[in-house]
Amino acid sequence: MNKILVTGGSGQVGKELQQILPGATYISSKEYNLTVEKDVNAILSNKFDTVIHLAARVGGIIDNINYPADYFADNALMNTLMLNYAVKYNVKRFIGVLSTCIYPDKVKSYPMKESMLHDGPPTPTNFSYGISKRAMAVHIDAINEQYNKKYCYVIPSNLYGIYDKFDEKSHFVAALVKKIYDAKKSNKDSITLYGSGLPLRQFMNAKDLAIILKRMIDEDVTESFNVASKDNFSINDIAEIALKACGCEHFSIEYDGTKPDGQYRKDVSTEKMDSLFSNLQFISLEKGIKEVYNKLYEDNITSR
Ligand code: NAP
Repeated sequence: MNKILVTGGSGQVGKELQQILPGATYISSKEYNLTVEKDVNAILSNKFDTVIHLAARVGGIIDNINYPADYFADNALMNTLMLNYAVKYNVKRFIGVLSTCIYPDKVKSYPMKESMLHDGPPTPTNFSYGISKRAMAVHIDAINEQYNKKYCYVIPSNLYGIYDKFDEKSHFVAALVKKIYDAKKSNKDSITLYGSGLPLRQFMNAKDLAIILKRMIDEDVTESFNVASKDNFSINDIAEIALKACGCEHFSIEYDGTKPDGQYRKDVSTEKMDSLFSNLQFISLEKGIKEVYNKLYEDNITSR
């Protein structure tokens, strides 16, 4: 039997994975704080065959700008300890989860391939997060070299989904849907977004990433690769898709240029992913956003 541990089990990807990989052990920071060595030792001493390491300090641009030291230290500690103890307890398969926002801020040609990960510094708005996550890629490659393992990492694009947070730590799509929901509730017909609306983003439903992670185990894939949707929409395009999905096409979109845009573009190549998996079909942004809106609506109805 393949004994599987999933860290970050209470996060949005972890919750999606629980639906399709119910036999694994899921942990959150409540049971094990993975920045603390004795907690990492305690969980990994249970001798797992496979570890899917989702846990991370994750957040939006503003949170990254306000707490750069915490983003660096928490992620560097968690990832280093998890990998050291995975080696110590002879975990056979380890899947680390990076992010496309750790790629260089600018490169000569897009979309970015996996080989370009270290071709320049990450964007200043999440520099410390980016470097700490890149360090996990370096650590995994080094473990494979030194200990002859087949550990690997995936590099997912921006995520959204029904289990995203809707608070100050929320990511773009959840924040957008919440703005639409709040505007509708207070009979307004406009929303205001940060920045210029021009940056390009590949948004992927967290459910689609969970499916890829499960398929990696089922199909014995031990390569490291980008995971992304092929759609590379501008923020303004995404806002229009979201307004349509929420039945608010008539709303106007305003932009607060005093707030940062973040990286202009960071689209990644899906060539390697496409060569590894057949029949990949990602959820369309409009359908996925409709689900997020309905979830927010239901949660608010039931919490009254
Ligand atoms: P999330 O919803 O923010 O969940 C983070 C998870 O990490 C939670 O389960 C959290 O536990 C756990 N965690 C945080 N600090 C911890 C600690 N010190 N010890 C133990 N557990 C800790 O994240 P997500 O969106 O599911 O992201 C999953 C992975 O995908 C992350 O590695 C992230 O970097 C990567 N990724 C995310 C995005 C995105 O747009 N969200 C894009 C690309 C890649 P608690 O619930 O107990 O706090």
